[in-house]
Amino acid sequence: MSLKIEPVLCLKGTMDNYAYILIDEATRQSAIIDAAEAAPILKKCQELGIKPSYILTTHHHFDHVGGNEELKEIFHLEVLGPLAEAALIPGFDRGFVDGDEFALGESRAKIMSAPGHTKGHVLYYFEQDKALFTGDVLFNLCVGGLFEGTKQEMKASLQKIMKLPDDVLFYPGHEYTLQCLNDAFSYADSPDLRDYAARAESRLAQNFPVAPVRLGVEKKCNPYLQNLLDIS
Ligand code: ZN
Ligand code: FE
Repeated sequence: MSLKIEPVLCLKGTMDNYAYILIDEATRQSAIIDAAEAAPILKKCQELGIKPSYILTTHHHFDHVGGNEELKEIFHLEVLGPLAEAALIPGFDRGFVDGDEFALGESRAKIMSAPGHTKGHVLYYFEQDKALFTGDVLFNLCVGGLFEGTKQEMKASLQKIMKLPDDVLFYPGHEYTLQCLNDAFSYADSPDLRDYAARAESRLAQNFPVAPVRLGVEKKCNPYLQNLLDIS
């Protein structure tokens, strides 16, 4: 069986975050990645007819945890996230460290620590389902800013992503593609990047997220992964 992934645009027009609703199709168990804002997530859960059991948090920033308490109250779910940020995540129940595994029904995620944007930031990697949730570490055509970590830490975190297979699809924490596209073009104008831009513009025009993109494509097009632009 497999994992169904539904993006939910949150904090639209200000932060443009994505929450993701995950449904393990074998068991119908479900979880929310980064509950940025309660209302749009609640609406989507109702449309899908699901009652999520977990929130999986990538990091503690307000635009990734703003819906935690309200959704916890409604669904009596468990709030999970990086143990290192336990004190900063509203409604926190249980923490992960690097290399932990998490089971959503029959679907399995590996927890990968990826410091740089924040000290405790984690990625959720569903290896069998070829899905990687990157929070504010990797965006379409750009990367997250250094709020708590060093450039070296961020580079090491991005290197971990670079080592994952090219056919893995990644799901970022924000819709920043258009902002990042111009910068990307000023550093490299390749046929791959032009394809990326055309697809992104058509997806956005239809109100779809640009995500997911295959890591193989991102590795070729993202100027930070290409070392054309330096992290700041
Ligand atoms: Zn953040
Ligand atoms: Fe964010």
